Amino acid sequence: MSEKNDYICVNCGVAAAALYRNYGPSVLKLTKCDSCKGIVDKYIEYDPVIVAIDLVLMSREAQRHIIYNTEFKSYWKLLIMLMLLETFAVWKNETLFNIAINTMCDIKNNSTINSTHISLPINLSIPQNWKIACQGWAQSEKDGSDLFIWEKDFYILFLSTFAGIIMFISTAHILMSLCALNKAPGRRVLKAFSLANASLLFAAPALVWGPGAARLYHHLLLAPYALVTFHSVLRVLYEGPRSLTVVVLILSNCIKYFTTFHVTPILRNIMNG
Ligand SMILES: [Zn+2]
Repeated sequence: MSEKNDYICVNCGVAAAALYRNYGPSVLKLTKCDSCKGIVDKYIEYDPVIVAIDLVLMSREAQRHIIYNTEFKSYWKLLIMLMLLETFAVWKNETLFNIAINTMCDIKNNSTINSTHISLPINLSIPQNWKIACQGWAQSEKDGSDLFIWEKDFYILFLSTFAGIIMFISTAHILMSLCALNKAPGRRVLKAFSLANASLLFAAPALVWGPGAARLYHHLLLAPYALVTFHSVLRVLYEGPRSLTVVVLILSNCIKYFTTFHVTPILRNIMNG
C-alpha cells in the first residue's frame, strides 16, 4: 500500500529512490536525478502557495510533485467538496451542461432556467429516448416554496453527478491503461483526478454573481482551461501520447455527461414515486 518508494523526478519523470538525504540533525541535501542531473523535487522546499500557483499555471513539475512525491492524504475530502460544488452548480442551472440540456431539450418554461436557454436557428432532431430524459429535466420546477422537494432534488443531482464522475474516471483509466505505458494504481488515479478537478473552483464566482450575460463567456473560458488541466494531469499520470490523451479525454467527458443526463430523470422518477 505504501507509495514511499514511488518517488519520481519532477523534471523527467524517471523513478528516484529518495527526495533528500539527512546529513545530521540540521543538514538536509536535495537528491539529484541520475537521468537528467536536475534536482529530483525542488518543490519540497517551496512554500505551498508557490506550489499552488504553479499548479494553476499547469506546471507538469508541480503536478508530478503532488501526484507522486507528496502524501496528499486529504484528496478524498477535496474530491467530495468538488463533487458538492459541481452538484450545486448543476442544481442552480449554472453550468455549460445545463445550458446544453436546456438548449437541446428546448426547456424554457421555468423562470429560473430561462437565462440558460439558447435559441437555435435550426430544429434539433434528437433520439426518442433522449426526449424522454428531456422531460425528466424539464420537470425540475424550483419556483415553488417547498424546500423539502428542493433539497431532495439536490441529493438526486448529487447521485447522478457521482455516477457521471465514476463513469468518467473508469473510462479514462481503462482506456489509458490499455494504450499507455504507465500503470497507475487506483489511489493515485483518484489523487490525480481530484487535483485536475480543482479547476472547478474557478467556477465558484459565477455561482455568486448570479445570472448575467457574462456567464456564458465565463463558462466558455473555463471549459477549455479545465480540459487542458485534465490533459496535462492525464499525461503526467499515464505518460500516453498527446493525441490519444485528447481522444480519451473527450470520450470520457461525453460518457460522463451522457450518464448524468440519463441517470437524473431515472432517479427523479424513483424518488418522486
Ligand atoms: Zn530527472
